[in-house]
Amino acid sequence: MKKSPQPQYIEQQDLIEFEDEGRSFQLHPDAFAAWKKMKDAARTKGINLYIVSAFRSFERQSEIIDQKREKGVSEEYIFKVSAPPGSSEHHTGKAVDINTKGFPALEDEFEKSEAFKWLSRNAKNFGFRLSYPRENIFGMIYEPWHWFYNGKTQKAASLDLAGAS
Ligand SMILES: [Zn+2]
Repeated sequence: MKKSPQPQYIEQQDLIEFEDEGRSFQLHPDAFAAWKKMKDAARTKGINLYIVSAFRSFERQSEIIDQKREKGVSEEYIFKVSAPPGSSEHHTGKAVDINTKGFPALEDEFEKSEAFKWLSRNAKNFGFRLSYPRENIFGMIYEPWHWFYNGKTQKAASLDLAGAS
């Protein structure tokens, strides 16, 4: 498959800091508001969602990549799992890596969780979409945990919210 170049982002300056399950994160205020609503809605269905990673600076992205290089991970693999600094959706403050209790963070297994099933049906109602599905045009690995807030909410009239799930 032809690889598409990744977009370049600017580092988000409009951020709010908050705690999720005892850890501190930053997101753009709109993304935070949407995240909170989504987490609460999931909870009413008995689904636990928590954040593993949210806003990341260019500097932090560089550190992550450097750490992988130091561990001897190949360049090719590094850039399949990590966007180069400037190209990570996490710079926008609108991307979240999500996990649920009982699953290892940032692993494919997440797709087998009830949380992932719920997100697949309902995240769009809160303006979130999966950025890196299988065989994505960016040549990134499949990331069932990585969701991006683009603000395009489908109306709550959708069947998903009406209780089908
Ligand atoms: Zn991510």
